[in-house]
Amino acid sequence: MTAPAGPAPGLAGKRGLVLGIANEHSIAAGCARHFAAAGARLAATFLNARAEPFVRAVTGPLGAELVLPCDVSHPGELESVFAAVARHWGGLDFVLHAIAFAPREDLHGRVIDCSAAGFAQAMDISCHSFLRAARLAEPLMAAGGALLTVSFYGSARVVPNYNVMGPVKAALESAVRYLAAELGPNQIRVNALSPGPIRTRAASGIAHFDELMEQTAATTPEHHLAEIDDVGALAAFLAGDGAQRITGTVIPIDGGAHVLA
Ligand code: NAD
Repeated sequence: MTAPAGPAPGLAGKRGLVLGIANEHSIAAGCARHFAAAGARLAATFLNARAEPFVRAVTGPLGAELVLPCDVSHPGELESVFAAVARHWGGLDFVLHAIAFAPREDLHGRVIDCSAAGFAQAMDISCHSFLRAARLAEPLMAAGGALLTVSFYGSARVVPNYNVMGPVKAALESAVRYLAAELGPNQIRVNALSPGPIRTRAASGIAHFDELMEQTAATTPEHHLAEIDDVGALAAFLAGDGAQRITGTVIPIDGGAHVLA
C-alpha cells in the first residue's frame, strides 16, 4: 500500500448551504467559518429582518455568495432558498442544518405535559425541516453530497431541563439513519454532529443551562467543553471527500462526556 498523495482534501470548489446562523456565537457560524477556511463557497440564511444584520456580520467576511431569508415554518421559504441556490450554482455539495425550536412553555414543562401543538411545532422546525432540506437538496446533488444536522445527547439520555427536545432530537437522529440509507445509493451522506453544551441563543432557552455547562465541564474526561470551532472542524471534515465512507452516524464532540455512566 502507498501513502495517500498530498494533503487531506479540503472543500475547495464545493458549494455549501448553511441553515441556522443567528449570530457569531451560533454553532452554524463556527461551521461556516471552517467551511470557508477549507475553501468552500457558501450560501446562508437568516430567520427574519431582526436577525439579518447579525447573520451578515458572520457571512460577510466569509464572502458568502447568497444570504437569504428562511423561516422553515413559513410555507415556501425553504423551497425558495433551494430554488435560488439552483439558479446561482446549478448544484450543491453540502448542507448544514443547525435549526431547533420549541415553544417556551412546552420546553420548560415536563415531557408528559407537552401540548400536542408544541410537540408538533418543535418536531416540524427541528426535525421535519431536515427531511424537507434533504428532499430539496437531493436533485441538486447529482454528483453526491453531504447533509449535516446538529443533535444533543439529551436524545438518548435524560438530561435535566432538556425536556421535549429529547424526543425531538431522538427523532432527528433516527431520521439521519433512514436518510443515510435512502440517499446512500446517490452517494449523498447524512450525519449528525452532537456537541456537548455550548452557550448560544438557543441554549439560553433551556432552564439552568449554566449549571449543565458547569457540571459537564467538571465531569467530562477532558475537563473542557466543546466550542463552536470544535464543531466546525468536524463539520468541515464530514462535508468533504475525506469522509466519503462515513454516513448515518451521530458523532459526539463533547470532550468524552458520552462515555460516562
Ligand atoms: P442558535 O440560537 O445560535 O441557532 C439556532 C438557530 O435555529 C437560529 O439561527 C434560529 O434562527 C434557527 N431557527 C429557529 N427556528 C427557526 C425557524 N422556524 N426557521 C429557520 N430557522 C430557525 O443556537 P445553536 O446552539 O447554535 O443551535 C444550533 C443547533 O445546535 C440546534 O439544532 C441545537 O439544538 C443544536 N445543539 C446545540 C447545543 C448547545 O449546547 N448550544 C448542543 C447540541 C446541539
